[in-house]
Amino acid sequence: MVTETTRRTLDARGLGALRAGFTGRLVTAEHADYDRRRAVWNGAIDRRPRLIARCADPADVIRTIAFARDQDLEIAVRSGGHSFPGLSVVDDGVVVDLSMMKDVTVDTRARTVRVQAGVLLGELDRATQQHGMAVPTGAVSHTGVAGLTLGGGIGWLMRKYGLTIDRLRAVDLVTADGRRLVASRSRNAELFWGLRGGGGNFGVVTSFTFDLRPVGPTVLSGLVLWPLEEAEVVARAYRAWCAGQPDDLTSALLFRHAPDADDIPEEVRGRPVVGVIGCWSGPIGAGERAWARIRAHGTPLVDLTQPRAFVDHQSMLDGSYPHGIWVHTRACNVAELSDGVIATAVEHVGRMQSPRSSVIAWQLGGAVARPGPDAGAFGGRDAGFVFNITGITAGAEGFAHERAWVRRFGDALAAHETGVYVNFLMEEGDDRVRAAYGSATHRRLRALKRVHDPDNVFHLNQNIAPSE
Ligand SMILES: Cc1cc2nc3c(=O)[nH]c(=O)nc-3n(C[C@H](O)[C@H](O)[C@H](O)COP(=O)(O)OP(=O)(O)OC[C@H]3O[C@@H](n4cnc5c(N)ncnc54)[C@H](O)[C@@H]3O)c2cc1C
Repeated sequence: MVTETTRRTLDARGLGALRAGFTGRLVTAEHADYDRRRAVWNGAIDRRPRLIARCADPADVIRTIAFARDQDLEIAVRSGGHSFPGLSVVDDGVVVDLSMMKDVTVDTRARTVRVQAGVLLGELDRATQQHGMAVPTGAVSHTGVAGLTLGGGIGWLMRKYGLTIDRLRAVDLVTADGRRLVASRSRNAELFWGLRGGGGNFGVVTSFTFDLRPVGPTVLSGLVLWPLEEAEVVARAYRAWCAGQPDDLTSALLFRHAPDADDIPEEVRGRPVVGVIGCWSGPIGAGERAWARIRAHGTPLVDLTQPRAFVDHQSMLDGSYPHGIWVHTRACNVAELSDGVIATAVEHVGRMQSPRSSVIAWQLGGAVARPGPDAGAFGGRDAGFVFNITGITAGAEGFAHERAWVRRFGDALAAHETGVYVNFLMEEGDDRVRAAYGSATHRRLRALKRVHDPDNVFHLNQNIAPSE
């Protein structure tokens, strides 16, 4: 047990033994970079772990897990640090930090890429785009490949190539009892199923191998903004437009304030807007024709639709979601952009106060909805749209208002909810985790958890408890 006296300082002998074999870096409160290393992307999270173990290889991961278990300390696992609720850092416990593990190895003949757990989306894209290929991932390039993949991975290529997990071939992982396992369709197949959506519940992943698909290097990158007063009519026009589009297009409806960015005219910056954003990854000429109809709708304030390098499209939203902003989010899957959904959205987006907050409704369908027979644990493939309502402030000022706004909006949209994407959850309780998977998948995940982590060592996540 952890006693009050041991709680304040780490056991020196145990730490010394850990240090002896450790090839990465151990960071404690005495180190100058402690505050930098404990900070996560969501600035509203302020936790003080006793140890941050910056692992250099799987052996470091094994040693750290053994040390933490021996000392009866909670374990948080960190790769890109973008957990919305900040589950990758823990007060008074140990952080298994994989952010130093940065290898990316492209095999052009096999058309695969092996990625260590500390790699960020932009680092993966830059390596694969050198060969005209990509893995479908997410929309902000400083997000971690690891956490995003383990929850599913939605992004700009999903309607064409599926979720990130749909291109996953194999995973290297360290279990709670310190074993190294490979999971793939042919090895530990049930574990491989669970890792495709089940999050960090089953172990610490040290590397992923993905299949690559041809992409770009140029895509037709679309962004059109209209005044927020036109939200309802633009949402209806978007609904009609996106319904008929082929899988080369992944798009979303957007509500926010126009960003203070160079390519936005000065008079538009800071204005509340409704927008359509998307990526056409087929031939550019066909993309121009596909985008023409929505671009011609009404009188846009801004139309930045143009051919762009895929890597640039992938980082287009980076500036809107920098490290350290205070964030509270709520997500919800809906079957369609019905009149009721649109009316609810229009009512609530008008109440967002912070110029940084945003609401994005991603269109699913296409390859996401055509999984193979053994597609993994991700729930909600049949959803029409994924809503992500995100209240954002620069710091504490105004945060309580934005959080309350997110909650009220989420509560109102709940009448239309068909499920929720697990990677967009805050700490919302067991019922919401079940809602993310559905009860049959949740039961199967629970059985898998009993096999691989019966003591729930890895519980700082969207937790699948081993028993009721
Ligand atoms: C700005 C922003 C944009 C986003 N955009 C998208 C998007 O476009 N598409 C999308 O699908 N999601 C998106 N997300 C959600 C994102 O997928 C999750 O927040 C994800 O968990 C982030 O992964 P990470 O490695 O950066 O996070 P971390 O905070 O490092 O990890 C989050 C959790 O994942 C687990 N985990 C992380 N690494 C490992 C590992 N190596 N082994 C085992 N478990 C691990 C742990 O439980 C950890 O608590 C976005 C999030 C943010 C903040």
